[in-house]
Amino acid sequence: MSRAARLEVRGLSRAFEGVKAVEGAGFHVEPGEIVALVGPSGCGKSTTLRMIAGLETQDEGQISLGGERIEHLAPERRAIGIVFQDYALFPHLTVLRNVAFALADLRRGEREGAALPYLKMVELEDLAGRYPDQLSGGQQQRVALARAFAGRPRLILLDEPFSNLDASLRHATRREVRALLKKSGIGAVLVTHDQEEALSFADRVSVMRAGRIEQTGEPSDLYSRPKNAFVASFLGRTNLVRATVRERMAHTVLGPLPVEGEGEGEVLLSIRPEYLELAEATNGEAGAGLVLEREFKGHDMTCWVGLGGEQYQVDTDFTCPFRPGDAVRLVARAPAVIVAE
Ligand code: ATP
Repeated sequence: MSRAARLEVRGLSRAFEGVKAVEGAGFHVEPGEIVALVGPSGCGKSTTLRMIAGLETQDEGQISLGGERIEHLAPERRAIGIVFQDYALFPHLTVLRNVAFALADLRRGEREGAALPYLKMVELEDLAGRYPDQLSGGQQQRVALARAFAGRPRLILLDEPFSNLDASLRHATRREVRALLKKSGIGAVLVTHDQEEALSFADRVSVMRAGRIEQTGEPSDLYSRPKNAFVASFLGRTNLVRATVRERMAHTVLGPLPVEGEGEGEVLLSIRPEYLELAEATNGEAGAGLVLEREFKGHDMTCWVGLGGEQYQVDTDFTCPFRPGDAVRLVARAPAVIVAE
């Protein structure tokens, strides 16, 4: 039975020695929903998470869980589970006793029996008697998650939980943890600096920069309709292109392009490499560029094209016939997106 509750954060701010670490952050998480806070190092993600947990005090702002204000409650009274990057397991306790630790409100003799279902949930009941250093990183992270669930939280916070895992284990553990969260029906906030992790793990993503939330949305919307150049570049590779927009057509060095988004006159466009393709051109033809470099990636390739003193990246498949030195035109396969500077 889940005690999942809706989280609402409004106007959350915190400064350290006069420097604003978080400024006016606002977002919400529905029960069962996963929201990622993503942004470069130092943008205020962890401080935001720590304020929600009660491990850091806010200068301003409101935090509500299930409609109740919690920002003045001690951490242990917030009913929030936390999973950290370093798992924070007790090395001298077995896996089962680590999970049982979260059940301190039960009588001593009942705790381990009550902890077992949470270990089953993360499929580690066979390893109940082992110590943390006898587990892989992915297994330790699942124990940490079982311990968080055992506290019967109303919300779960995940602070860079996959960063200590190597690439292949990280991928698998992410999918397992996502499935477990979804099954539990409890909402979660994930903090990560990894845009791909945020986009693949979360139902909605908030992109932070310098203490502020720049944009929040569903992964595909954020990726395809970033509102500014920072969000566009942070969430994936892109070409930022200057243009003049008149009557929904952008005039650029690549030629005229259809656009989406708000703006007329001088604007900046974001065009993802996968939305461009190469066409044959003759040297010196208006709008033609030169292939500078081909970057082979296995399933596809990125071609770098020089045009008008700038470089553009275009994703092609591995059969791409163009070689460095060939003249090409860049053709957009989808409207370019107008973004703020
Ligand atoms: P990272 O991904 O590197 O962990 P982050 O986005 O989580 O970064 P925070 O850890 O929230 O960023 O830090 C935000 C800003 O606040 C940084 O400039 C950091 O140096 C500063 N900061 C955080 N905690 C403290 C503290 N206890 N004392 C002073 N400054 C702090």
